[in-house]
Amino acid sequence: MNSSPEGNRFLSKSQFFRGTRCSKAWKLFWSHSELKTSRLDSHDVFQIASKEISLKSRKLFPEGEEITGNTEQKISKTLQAVQNKIPIIYNAHFQRDKVLVSVDILKYEQGRWKLILVKSASKKKRKHIREVALQLNILKSNGLSISSASLLHVNTSYILEDKLDLDDFFTEIDLTELALNLQSKLDGKFISLNDTLNNQIPEVEIGTYCLQPHECEFKNHCWSAIPETSIFDLTRLATAKKVELYLKGITESQELPEDYPLSEYQKIQIHSEKTNTRFINEKAIEKFLKKLTFPLYFLDFEALQPVVPLFQGDNPFEFLPVQFSLHYLETEEGALQHKEFIAENNLDPRLGFATTLVNSIPENACILVYNVALEKKINKSLALRFPEMEKQLKTINSQLVDLIEPFNNKYIYDPKMKGKSSIKAILPVLVPEMEEAYKNLNIKNGMMAMGAFFNLQGNQDSNEKNKIRQDLLDYCKLDTLAMVKVWQYLNNLFPALTPQKTK
Ligand code: SF4
Repeated sequence: MNSSPEGNRFLSKSQFFRGTRCSKAWKLFWSHSELKTSRLDSHDVFQIASKEISLKSRKLFPEGEEITGNTEQKISKTLQAVQNKIPIIYNAHFQRDKVLVSVDILKYEQGRWKLILVKSASKKKRKHIREVALQLNILKSNGLSISSASLLHVNTSYILEDKLDLDDFFTEIDLTELALNLQSKLDGKFISLNDTLNNQIPEVEIGTYCLQPHECEFKNHCWSAIPETSIFDLTRLATAKKVELYLKGITESQELPEDYPLSEYQKIQIHSEKTNTRFINEKAIEKFLKKLTFPLYFLDFEALQPVVPLFQGDNPFEFLPVQFSLHYLETEEGALQHKEFIAENNLDPRLGFATTLVNSIPENACILVYNVALEKKINKSLALRFPEMEKQLKTINSQLVDLIEPFNNKYIYDPKMKGKSSIKAILPVLVPEMEEAYKNLNIKNGMMAMGAFFNLQGNQDSNEKNKIRQDLLDYCKLDTLAMVKVWQYLNNLFPALTPQKTK
């Protein structure tokens, strides 16, 4: 083991598992953590949900002792609590060879310890088995006798009644046997870890492990030789195939052999990149634009998926619409107008959301959305919930037109889009004056918006609450303004095709 590391003092479980796929990552985490690109985000919605679930789970194992302090203190306090046979320990910290794990719940029963991993997940996943196995391994290496190891996850069929029933909300699955089966493999990984940390940085080619299950924090460093536009940007090609091509020496799509099987979309992208020109399929865009009529509306929803249901009758992870933005043009010459809705704190937003929505959109509107699935799904569920608005909500769904179509289907493609079709990828390419628009906002993407909504709950500071609400309004408004700008760009390609007023 490196005795004087310049980087991490401990490896987290995710760093350990990253290293089981790529030993270079172990060495870099340990001795060159300055090369990391941080993915941490204070609005991280997954972290917020995990924390909430972890705290809720403690009520099933009450009166435990929580381990606090810095990492070294947590490790020594945990060992002390174990020695004292504290019946329930929360947030217990253990290390083996500087790999650190924290155990949500540790329970002492009949001379042995039961470890419980708590996850805000809807079912057992392979990564949970690996995590429990690692915890079991490290606890055993610290001399604990383990009676069982289990996963506590969320029961998705739970329905909230008057108050949260934690026994019904959580599902516990015993993973002892599965975790025991992985022990010799894990012991082998610890041996490799020690070898790696005692040696030079290993030579490792880039691979699928750089991108899966999440992008590696050292990607910027290891991928610095990959050109700005590369084979990794090719649309609709599996990562494993991209890596395979790269390892054969193909770095850019243009270097693909003539006979390489390509879809029409991929051929368009490659041709556009080769010639460095914007591809425009005039016929297809013309056909798309002909579907649009005035009054023309641009709609975007924001929704939460709370792990713990907030309102009676709801399931965990049920979509809860909390905000919409609506830009609209009544006529071709008319001014661009705007309406919006945002949920009031702690109140069920669905009735207000649905009522405002149906009152804001006329029956003859043509409604552009970007990636229609969420809007359709939410309108359907609102229609079921409020039969009095079912007809209008169904009408709205029948009027939706997906503005992503020209980009998903490569009716238009610019090399700067890098194989992507999200609004945030195409907007700065087509409308360069909007390049900084999202960067200038406090909330820059949907995940941050969800995190901000969760942060609003229970926030008592009215100034802070007002600021977050304004940030949310600004973000959602920009999403629909971006759609207006993209539509205007397409429309300006064919001025003769200005949408017709519906009769
Ligand atoms: S970017 Fe890839 S090669 Fe580099 S450390 Fe991460 S997983 Fe390994």
